[in-house]
Amino acid sequence: MKKKIAVIGSGFAGISAATVLADQGQEVHLFEKNEQIGGRARQFGAEGFLFDMGPSWYWMPDVFERYFERFGYHPRDFYDLKLLDPGFSMVFEGNEIVDVPANFEDLCDLFESIETGAADALRKFMNEAAYKYEVGINDLVYKPGLSLGEFADFKLFRDVFRLQVFSSFSDHVKKHFKHPKLVALMEFPVLFLGAMPEKTPALYSLMNYAGLKMGTYYPMGGFHKIIEGMAQIAKDKGVNFYQGEPVQQLEIAKNAVHHVSANGHSMDVDAVVGAADYHHIESKLLAKPYRNYDEKYWAKKTFAPSSLLFYLGVDKKVPKLKHHTLFFDNNLKQHSEEIYVDPQWPKKPLFYVCCPSKTDPDVAPEGKENVFILMPIAPGLKDTEAIREEYYHILMERLEDFVGENIRDHIIYKRSYCVTDFVNDYNAYKGNAYGLANTLMQTAILKPRLKSKKVNNLFFAGQLTVPGPGVPPSIISGQVAAKELLKQL
Ligand SMILES: Cc1cc2nc3c(=O)[nH]c(=O)nc-3n(C[C@H](O)[C@H](O)[C@H](O)COP(=O)(O)OP(=O)(O)OC[C@H]3O[C@@H](n4cnc5c(N)ncnc54)[C@H](O)[C@@H]3O)c2cc1C
Repeated sequence: MKKKIAVIGSGFAGISAATVLADQGQEVHLFEKNEQIGGRARQFGAEGFLFDMGPSWYWMPDVFERYFERFGYHPRDFYDLKLLDPGFSMVFEGNEIVDVPANFEDLCDLFESIETGAADALRKFMNEAAYKYEVGINDLVYKPGLSLGEFADFKLFRDVFRLQVFSSFSDHVKKHFKHPKLVALMEFPVLFLGAMPEKTPALYSLMNYAGLKMGTYYPMGGFHKIIEGMAQIAKDKGVNFYQGEPVQQLEIAKNAVHHVSANGHSMDVDAVVGAADYHHIESKLLAKPYRNYDEKYWAKKTFAPSSLLFYLGVDKKVPKLKHHTLFFDNNLKQHSEEIYVDPQWPKKPLFYVCCPSKTDPDVAPEGKENVFILMPIAPGLKDTEAIREEYYHILMERLEDFVGENIRDHIIYKRSYCVTDFVNDYNAYKGNAYGLANTLMQTAILKPRLKSKKVNNLFFAGQLTVPGPGVPPSIISGQVAAKELLKQL
């Protein structure tokens, strides 16, 4: 018999969970706090520019394909995917640039030109990483992480050394490469997982495989196109969307949610998938006796960074900028410590600049440039207009020095976004941007549980539970939560 299920949140995880549930014949109601769907992947237009608010790196195209194919579609039914070449550029001290080519043999040549023997080292590194990717992305990430038993027959146990679950990613990279530029280039992909390379298991060299071997893509029209495609399928399957309707309370009886109150809506339900920030659902929507975790638990967790972001419209072209440019011209260790060890505003920040108008004519008026700047920071930092402005000038000075021309006088649109906005817009714990970091102690069964321990029909999805932060993991998370819920209906 059809059950009535509420899903909280319209990010990748929420839409994915809702679609799987509706596809299996359930009646699904998806509540979104904001007027626009998409969560961290929302988009806004201003002065003729179209800004993606969050994700900009499209890695692991197979995960997107697998998602769309389960409903009889292909990503190309909703957006054109463009392979970026170079995939990205890195700027080192003295404005020295390394362009990372899309073609793997060209990348090997680049490595060899920087360090003798590095091409073979890279091939060996990538062969191992390919195996980890196959096991990790096709198998490990689809486990709900509810008990160790799930892994009993799994390669993880048989192959624990090959998968390098317990060794450090940083040591793994340094065994293969010595030159600081190559070390930085190889360490960069795991920064997406939200922790320092020293604290990240070497298993995650699968990220290098994803980013450096499979390629960096861009969905034409921006990341919101993915959300639009996913939402279209959800609606076709019958999911009811309620936008601008934050869920305010989950009412419990006999250890089950039986009622959901959202702005203006009150609904009896048979089950709930909480795909908004986990901490918010537990601490704000559930009464204390029904929470899995207390504040002390959350305070001890390693969160992925928050960010200071700038969305800029520039009234001219900036020839030297590429689609993705990473500024690694300062010390990564120092900035990382200011995020994870001793949280504070960074003294000499590293940052990232995205210029999607290099690839996509629809995101900026002709002859103009769409520029997005991201500086990672510790979650929970005090965020004021004055601090944002101070960093705006620090970052712009560095950017202008690199491109060799003035940009600030050519800004015709400017919007900043930081900790307070993440809290206000997404109910994000400490204003985190990308959820919980994938450290060894926060992997699989050690992550916040996908199923409530105290409320039988409450499941969680999204970047704070399994498998972790990022667009592909969030899409997977929704599917896994829906599958577990369906098992018990
Ligand atoms: C600046 C930035 C850059 C990023 N870059 C990349 C990248 O390049 N590549 C990549 O793969 N990933 C990237 N990420 C990470 C990726 O965007 C996220 O991991 C992913 O979008 C999270 O999806 P989600 O569904 O878990 O959460 P969200 O997108 O946050 O969705 C949760 C939704 O729940 C809603 N909500 C909250 N409270 C309530 C309530 N009470 N009632 C109803 N709704 C509620 C929120 O409004 C939100 O819409 C980036 C993230 C940020 C912020």
